Amino acid sequence: MSSQERTWKTIESGPHTYEEALHPVVRKNYGKWKYHEIPKPGVLKHVAESGDAIWTVRAGTPRQDTVDKVRLLCDIADKYSDGYLRFTVRNNVEFLTPNGENVEPMIAELESLGFPVGGTGMCVSAVSHTQGWLHCDIPATDASGVVKSMMDTVYNEFKDMQMPNKVRLSTSCCSINCGGQADIAVVVKHTRPPRINHDHLVKTCELPKAVARCPVAAIRPTVVDGKKSLMVDEAKCICCGACFGACPAMEINHPEHSKFAVWVGGKNSNARSKPSTMSLVAHNLPNNPPRWPEVTEVVGRILTAYKAGGRPWERIGEWINRIGWKRFFEETGLQFDDNMIDSYRHARTTFNQSAHIRF
Ligand code: SF4
Ligand code: SF4
Repeated sequence: MSSQERTWKTIESGPHTYEEALHPVVRKNYGKWKYHEIPKPGVLKHVAESGDAIWTVRAGTPRQDTVDKVRLLCDIADKYSDGYLRFTVRNNVEFLTPNGENVEPMIAELESLGFPVGGTGMCVSAVSHTQGWLHCDIPATDASGVVKSMMDTVYNEFKDMQMPNKVRLSTSCCSINCGGQADIAVVVKHTRPPRINHDHLVKTCELPKAVARCPVAAIRPTVVDGKKSLMVDEAKCICCGACFGACPAMEINHPEHSKFAVWVGGKNSNARSKPSTMSLVAHNLPNNPPRWPEVTEVVGRILTAYKAGGRPWERIGEWINRIGWKRFFEETGLQFDDNMIDSYRHARTTFNQSAHIRF
C-alpha cells in the first residue's frame, strides 16, 4: 500500500446559510429593529433603527400543499415581495414587502385563492401539529385531519384579534406529543397496554431496543414457544406507546382503545408569567374521523369560556390560575374526574432514570 498521504476536497452539501433567504431589508437591519406593530389582523409592520420599514403579510396554509399551490404562493412572492417568502412553524406562509402599497392587493389575492390572512396578535393561531401518516411510523390518527376540523371551527378567531391574548394550539398523533406545549393541546391517548404479536416480534424486534424505550421499565424479556420474546407488566404500563416506535410488534394502536385527550395551560414564553406545563382537562374522546366532532366541541367550549372570561393579556393558563380549576370546569361545562389530578409522587422510584437495559 502506498504511504502517500491522501488529500481530498470537501464538498459542502449542507443547507445554504440562512442569511441568503432573508429579504434584503431584513438582512440590512438584522437585530436592529426599533419597533413592530400590527396595523390589522394578518399584517405586521417592522420599523428599523435606520428608518427602513417592511411589512409582513401572514396567511394560513393547509400544511400539506400541492406543487400547484406552492407555485401559486411563489407567484405571489414574485409579484409583491421581491420573490421572498417563508413558512412558519405553524404552517403559515409570510410575505415581506418594503412597499406598503403592496399589502392590500396581496391580501386580496391570497384570500381569493383560499388562503385566510390572519394569525397575528390576540387571535387563535394556526395549529402546530405532527407528522401523522405522511412521515411517522407510529401515529394513531391523522393529525392533519383533526387540525383541519378544528381550524374550520375557529376560522373567524384566526382572522380576527378578539381573544384576551394569543392562543397557541397543537395536535399530536401519539402520546409522545411532537405537537408540544400549547394553550390547548389535543393529544392521542392510548387506553390499553400494547398487545404483543410474538410471531411478528421474533422477526422484527431488536429486543433490548424495545426494553430500553419504556420509561417505566414495564417491558421484560420472556420466552414464548421456545423463542426469546417480551412481555409487558400491565400494572406498570402507562400506555405511552413509546415501545411501538422501537418495535412494531408492540401493537398499541387500536380504533377503539386509542382515544384523544385535551390538555390546557401550556406556555413556552416567560412574558408576564413563568413558562408552564399543561394539565389534562378532557380524555377518552373518540378518535372519530373524518371530522372528530367530540374533540372540536371540547376545544370550542374552552375557547368560548376563555374569550368571555379572560382579562386582556391573560393566556389560558393564567386565566385558569386566576379563576381556579373549579370555575374552569363550571364555565367550560367539562367533567372533572380523578384521572385529571397529576401527582408524580413516587416518580423517582418508578420512572426509568437511565437508558440501562434490564436483561
Ligand atoms: S406525535 Fe407521535 S405519531 Fe405523531 S409524529 Fe410525533 S412521534 Fe410520530
Ligand atoms: S413503552 Fe409505554 S406503552 Fe410500552 S410498555 Fe412501556 S409504558 Fe407501556
